Amino acid sequence: MRVTDRFSRHRSLAADSASKCHKGDILPDSLSESNYPLQYLKGVGPARARALAMMGIVQPTDLAAYYPRDWQDRRLRFSIGDAPMGEKTTLRGTIRSIEFSMTRSQLGIATAVIEQAGATIQAVWFKKTTPRYDVFSSLRNHLQVGKSLFVYGIIEWGPGGRQIRVEDMSATANADTPLEGDEVFHFDRIVPAYTVPEGINERLLRTLIGRVLSAKPRFEDLIPPAIRQKWQIREQSWAIQKMHFPDTLIQKEEARQVLAFEEFLILETALGLVRQRIKQEIKPQHYRLHKTLLTPFRQGLGFEFTAAQKRVIREIFDDMMKPQPMNRLLQGDVGSGKTLAALSAMLLAVENGGQAVLMAPTEILAEQHALTISRFLKHLPVQCALLTGRQASAQRRHCLKEISEGRVHLVIGTHALVQQPVQFASLQLAVIDEQHRFGVEHRRLLRKKGSCPDILVMTATPIPRTLALTLYGDLDVSVIDELPPGRTPVITRHVAEEEAYRRVQDAVRQGRQAYIVYPLVTESDKVELKAVTQEAVTLSRTVFKDVRVGVLHGQLSGRDKEKVMEQFRKGDVDVLIATSIIEVGIDVPNATMMVIQHAERFGLSTLHQLRGRVGRGQHASICLLIADTKSDEARRRIDVMTHISDGFRLSEEDLKLRGPGEVMGVHQHGMPVFKLGDLIQDARLIQQARLAAEDVLQTDVDLALPDHQSLKQAINSQHGDRQALGLTG
Ligand code: ADP
Ligand code: MG
Repeated sequence: MRVTDRFSRHRSLAADSASKCHKGDILPDSLSESNYPLQYLKGVGPARARALAMMGIVQPTDLAAYYPRDWQDRRLRFSIGDAPMGEKTTLRGTIRSIEFSMTRSQLGIATAVIEQAGATIQAVWFKKTTPRYDVFSSLRNHLQVGKSLFVYGIIEWGPGGRQIRVEDMSATANADTPLEGDEVFHFDRIVPAYTVPEGINERLLRTLIGRVLSAKPRFEDLIPPAIRQKWQIREQSWAIQKMHFPDTLIQKEEARQVLAFEEFLILETALGLVRQRIKQEIKPQHYRLHKTLLTPFRQGLGFEFTAAQKRVIREIFDDMMKPQPMNRLLQGDVGSGKTLAALSAMLLAVENGGQAVLMAPTEILAEQHALTISRFLKHLPVQCALLTGRQASAQRRHCLKEISEGRVHLVIGTHALVQQPVQFASLQLAVIDEQHRFGVEHRRLLRKKGSCPDILVMTATPIPRTLALTLYGDLDVSVIDELPPGRTPVITRHVAEEEAYRRVQDAVRQGRQAYIVYPLVTESDKVELKAVTQEAVTLSRTVFKDVRVGVLHGQLSGRDKEKVMEQFRKGDVDVLIATSIIEVGIDVPNATMMVIQHAERFGLSTLHQLRGRVGRGQHASICLLIADTKSDEARRRIDVMTHISDGFRLSEEDLKLRGPGEVMGVHQHGMPVFKLGDLIQDARLIQQARLAAEDVLQTDVDLALPDHQSLKQAINSQHGDRQALGLTG
């Protein structure tokens, strides 16, 4: 069999073909050699073909792309005499006797004594018997005294001495004959283990894959030859062969890396194309650094930007002054001062006659942003407006009019911004705070509110490098890696509830303020909310009866929320009992204590965000976790929190504990899925793939060269119809 050059495309299309298969249009008009339905393969038939199709395996090429879940070393490493107890091993011996019996509980037992160099062991098979059917019929055919038997299984003690509990076997005529035919796929080598669909046994699947591969199909490399040479990457055909049937386990890992690199290269090239497409657009606006707003803004701050802020602002300004739109991710730990960097960018747009928008994920954060921003801009001729879903309609209408007529320069809001018919006179910069809370769709919609506006997305959830390179691979990245001076590191402790409350009382006595946070699954969950408000009432009457307590949660009206916040900010409330809506953006330097109830229910990044609410003033701050750590996972998470304070390191830990989808909360937003690539383990490969993709696109912007056709096809079939992971502008 020779596989055509469409092979590689078929691999990625496997899932598609499977769904087509159900619609009954699987038969191609010409049956090419690689492209025939599996049911015509020996040993398959219609029923098994259907079972395989459920797994996306429709034609031989799909089989090659169905990678093992594990490998078993079935090389002959031990003789029968020295087979190790309790381990899965492969043995070979000559059959000396065979016996079939049955226990009282109707369990059939087959026993064959096999012998090698004078030593013997019992090979045993167990099978549940059925009245109408001889469960050992096929075994009776294979087992004959004098034949040589390969067996794989665990070595243990049985009633008759040492035995090997057989999981798989192969027989040959005698000890000198080698394995023949399909048997070579199952013994005397490292063999692949697969996840099998119901109705297909592993042996059959391994046989089918072995047959397809031993025809030495020629796979067409997705990785362009120049890249393969530069990074010393082996050929795809080699990798696919060795992925299934490696000579050594090291070789298997080498093969996996080739195929994983291929996956990463497809993604990174797709992302690179998106980046380029955006860069090919030309903005209508042309910026100059007038400094009519920027200079007074800077002078009115009362502090200096940190070096990291300065660097990042320069990067952003450089982008904004280019003819192509900016598409930049701004990362920085909680409290690192991203907002001011973004505000500087917004002012640059405004002093050039444009409008800017800041989109925040929650009302409370939008309100908080509006408040701080208008405070910073108090003495400047800049009009700000807040636009959320909760405003009264008359007020909103007025607001929309002001925006569309260009009288408002800065608009701050929630996703209401993209959902409502907001029209800007001249939107030139869109800033998105806490990007991970939004779908990529939001970013696209916001972009459409202007004509090629610059885009700046900010996140305080430090994104592990690998994710930044994959999920956000279409963005340029700036990092604020320094906190403003005078921040005190926050100590984190896992404590009992009583101790936490005692410490809160102490803190309040010393004039400080505290947060007590309860997790809610959803802010709209009435039952849970009631429990929290109840608890707040109880606490304020008991432990905190001498303390001024405020309550803040998502169900309060905007005005009530603002009132409570204002009281807390002014120091009229000592202890703020809140749901996790305070996670982002609240900034009260006198609050030095963060108590988190049921901390085990929060993810690491949320805990870190909450912790970032304190440590913002000159007083030492502390974060107290009240947590039930019965489960291992919870214990690990709490442990990580109490030991790691650096947001970036924490996010790497988070990635390990929860996996990328959970970390970013983006499973529904087109999180890339890799068959073999691993975001944690393969950080280096991803990095290389990013560079390789840049190489490819540098020489061939449209992937027009012959060497790049397979790669292009793979990108089209994987990302073409999904708006390149939703990352397109
Ligand atoms: P982030 O959004 O990155 O979490 P913010 O922009 O909200 O952080 O800044 C946190 C706090 O630090 C705010 O009160 C802000 O005014 C203050 N701040 C920002 N930059 C500086 C600086 N260079 N020096 C002192 N304080 C700063
Ligand atoms: Mg912020």
